[in-house]
Amino acid sequence: MNKLDTSLITSALTDAGFDLTRRVKEADVVLLNTCSVREHAEQRVLSHLGHLKHIKKSRPDMIVGVIGCMAQRLGDKLLEHEAVNIVCGPTQIPQIADLLKQALEKNEKRLAVTEKIRTSSENQNQALERFESAYGIEDRQIPSQAFVRVMRGCNNFCAYCIVPYVRGPEICRPPELIIEQIKKLADQGIKQVTLLGQTVNSYKYKKDGRTWSLADLLNAASDIDGIEWLRFVTSYPSEEFFDDILQVMADSPKVCNHLHMPAQSGSDKILHAMNRHYTAAWYLKLLDRARATVPGIAIAGDFIVGFPSESEDDFQATVDLLNKARYRNCFIFKYSPRPGTTADKRLEDTVPAEVKQKRIAGLLAAQEKISDQLSRDFLDKEVKILVEGLSKKSHRNIVGSGNNPQLVGRTETDYIVVFNGPPSLAGRFAKVKIIKTSPLTLFGELT
Ligand code: SAH
Ligand code: SF4
Repeated sequence: MNKLDTSLITSALTDAGFDLTRRVKEADVVLLNTCSVREHAEQRVLSHLGHLKHIKKSRPDMIVGVIGCMAQRLGDKLLEHEAVNIVCGPTQIPQIADLLKQALEKNEKRLAVTEKIRTSSENQNQALERFESAYGIEDRQIPSQAFVRVMRGCNNFCAYCIVPYVRGPEICRPPELIIEQIKKLADQGIKQVTLLGQTVNSYKYKKDGRTWSLADLLNAASDIDGIEWLRFVTSYPSEEFFDDILQVMADSPKVCNHLHMPAQSGSDKILHAMNRHYTAAWYLKLLDRARATVPGIAIAGDFIVGFPSESEDDFQATVDLLNKARYRNCFIFKYSPRPGTTADKRLEDTVPAEVKQKRIAGLLAAQEKISDQLSRDFLDKEVKILVEGLSKKSHRNIVGSGNNPQLVGRTETDYIVVFNGPPSLAGRFAKVKIIKTSPLTLFGELT
């Protein structure tokens, strides 16, 4: 979601006459896009701001803007920071170019956040929709790939989560605008589109007497020439539309067989306290259904360890669920209390830091074992990947191919594949034979 917002803002600023630089030293304006989901993410922003404060001593005219969820959460408190000139929340991004121009002219501090974030205003929605439609087809961070938001905000209020308080209520975008945007992206050579929403599988939009679901969106997007792969994140474990979505996945060769559907915990007591509306057994049955309808589907998940009152038995239930779920990969986090959430207001952060650390390590090790086994199945097989570009990390021990650098791409099921190849492959599909595996990465040779 943040990557998409960064792209939109980059396009809008380019359109307004700004040039992009990645070097802080030559920038007149520095923008930090921020996340509030865990405290650690916010601490990193504060440390960047400390660094920028230093730079501003010799360059007092430099404008620093903080955008995104942390801007919305902290508002004027953040504006008090010595380094900060502009604070702009996720629902105010259409104003960003104007805010910057004003700040550059007058060097005054500017605050643009929504006071009552849970009350959606029609004007604001329309401004966001115009902004998204105008700039959602420009900046590309990875060649041939684009994100398209299908819904904003969230109404779920999981007890630990800050998202509903900083991104506002759930609003689904009109299907015709989403499809039009994907068509424009296809015209520009985009091959893979990822549809985004906090609970993307519950997308619904009433229009002309019928209700559009995510399955309908995927179907309509599958008909667009040029689009070859379609993905969607993140799914909330829910019955609603589930079979329809799986059926499109099974039927359409364009919809990638990949589902990111976090469980968060394997203990029913903790799931209840988290305000997640399912049990572990029910969740596992949902995965069985997914695997029965879409053979070979890769499933990814998220977990939070150390939620208030999580006992050793609760944690073991999570390990148990993870082992049964056989995820292709998992994102595992230590519980981080977020101010204003119900968990923070009503529950004490009872699990000591060292226990959280032990549990995260235990769960990561359990997942690594599974990921390793699943990866090994690819040995000696040929996979089709969409190439992203140069590998950021340099990997040792893979067979070279001339003087070609290491490139990275992903399979339909979201496996990362590293291989040697010409950089001109970036943004194109390629076939690679897997010669070595690790839990998270496959290594291969271009065939
Ligand atoms: N909307 C998505 C995910 C949103 S946040 C969903 O519901 O699946 C991404 C992940 O961050 C969550 O899945 C959760 O595992 C984690 N997360 C959210 N709030 C957290 C908190 N307070 N502490 C630790 N992890 C958290
Ligand atoms: Fe947060 Fe839950 Fe909404 Fe996901 S579904 S964004 S975890 S409140």
